[in-house]
Amino acid sequence: PLPVLAVIGRPNVGKSTLVNRILGRREAVVEDVPGVTRDRVTYEADWAGRRFVLVDTGGWERDAKGLHLRVAEQAEIAIELADAVLFVVDATVGATDTDEAVVKVLRRSGKPVVLAANKVDDARTEADAAMLWSLGLGEPHPVSALHGRGSGDMLDAALAVL
Ligand code: GDP
Ligand code: MG
Repeated sequence: PLPVLAVIGRPNVGKSTLVNRILGRREAVVEDVPGVTRDRVTYEADWAGRRFVLVDTGGWERDAKGLHLRVAEQAEIAIELADAVLFVVDATVGATDTDEAVVKVLRRSGKPVVLAANKVDDARTEADAAMLWSLGLGEPHPVSALHGRGSGDMLDAALAVL
């Protein structure tokens, strides 16, 4: 069976855009309004001659439990089925309480994690990415899912732990 890389993170950080970037085609649904991606959608991908399964996650609703519990729950399920996790954070926003809730789940899982600092569209935003060292997940990999900037290095890092 192919190794599984799950893409997780709170709504609107650019997970589906990043999935499309990795696939090299537009299959994952991107929306300005959070909550369009179904809970989990699976794709077959390859990078540097290696095939793997890529799982896009989403579909969180703002129900009674509140957003960050829902995100953490969905992350838990995705992490369980994955061999490694690509954790996406919006570098232009910085770490939120919801991101911190996901970090707790990631820590408990013991699965290898690569931190993607997304929306680093230009060199000016690199400093925002560096702020994400504070999450304690190691090096934040600056990337622009929208423009492709940094996606090769980020993928190399993800494949190295997969
Ligand atoms: P998801 O909810 O995490 O799957 O996020 P989406 O992929 O649906 O993206 C949410 C919004 O962020 C959309 O408007 C995207 O165009 C935008 N977005 C995603 N990646 C980037 C990026 O690298 N830079 C910028 N500026 N916007 C991005
Ligand atoms: Mg999505």
